[in-house]
Amino acid sequence: MARITGPKCRLCRREGMKLFLKGERCHTVKCAVEKRGTPPGMKTWSRARRSSYGMQLREKQRLKRMYGVMEKQFRIYFGRAVQTRGNTGDNLLLEVERRLDNVIRLAGFGHGPSSARQIVGHGHTFVNGRRCDRPSRQIRVGDVITFTDHERKRKHVKNVVEGSSSYMGEAPAWLEIDREKMEIRVTAMPTREQFPFQINEQLIVEGMAK
Ligand code: SF4
Repeated sequence: MARITGPKCRLCRREGMKLFLKGERCHTVKCAVEKRGTPPGMKTWSRARRSSYGMQLREKQRLKRMYGVMEKQFRIYFGRAVQTRGNTGDNLLLEVERRLDNVIRLAGFGHGPSSARQIVGHGHTFVNGRRCDRPSRQIRVGDVITFTDHERKRKHVKNVVEGSSSYMGEAPAWLEIDREKMEIRVTAMPTREQFPFQINEQLIVEGMAK
């Protein structure tokens, strides 16, 4: 299972925005974007105007990094978005937003994308009663996500939930969350308006459709 490694805050600084990859730290003054919002590396103050290819690439990288998705998987999402009826950009956002690890994170059961991915990858999650250790699984309306009965593992997830409750905002309206029972219910599909990040999906579509 390929994943993005290396310092996470560098990714945010490269994109020039908070990607919320580290949980609580992202909501404090310790956040690297707040402290030093410049891109990482030397000589990063270039005044050169970015080409349209550069802007399209940057936007794509931004979306991939928000969700911890690698290029190959992203192309699969794009292919599905093109084939699905409706606006390709909206479809693409829906594809990444419906990932199981993202739902876990949005519900506060993971500190960030990698923490949520780890909880899924270690086999702590069940979808509709069946164990699922695939973070990329697409959730559907009516799906019920629960967590393992194994006491030690359950305690770990509970600790994450308690820790994240201090900085997590409102859960999205399309999820019904029972933190006591440790259960997440998908009541609707997310819409473009509910997408939590600022992204210009049209640029991504233009760049990938070439
Ligand atoms: Fe990004 Fe969070 Fe690091 Fe801030 S603290 S730069 S939001 S990963």
